[in-house]
Amino acid sequence: MVSVDNNRCHLYAICQQEAPSSFLLAEDHRLYYDAAPPSHQMASVRQAARLCPMQAITLENGGR
Ligand code: SF4
Repeated sequence: MVSVDNNRCHLYAICQQEAPSSFLLAEDHRLYYDAAPPSHQMASVRQAARLCPMQAITLENGGR
């Protein structure tokens, strides 16, 4: 499971660059994300979580 802390997220969109199938920074300036990405997306989701400057992305259960 993936969750994003909206209080931390400053919409840098790095997550979208790293995992465009799982994160979408929309025109309304909100971040939409897939809370349960398919397993083949998890490597890029993990990378997004690592690179998020605000450490706003949390992977539960090791991201499985
Ligand atoms: S990289 Fe982090 S701070 Fe930036 S939009 Fe994604 S979750 Fe938010």
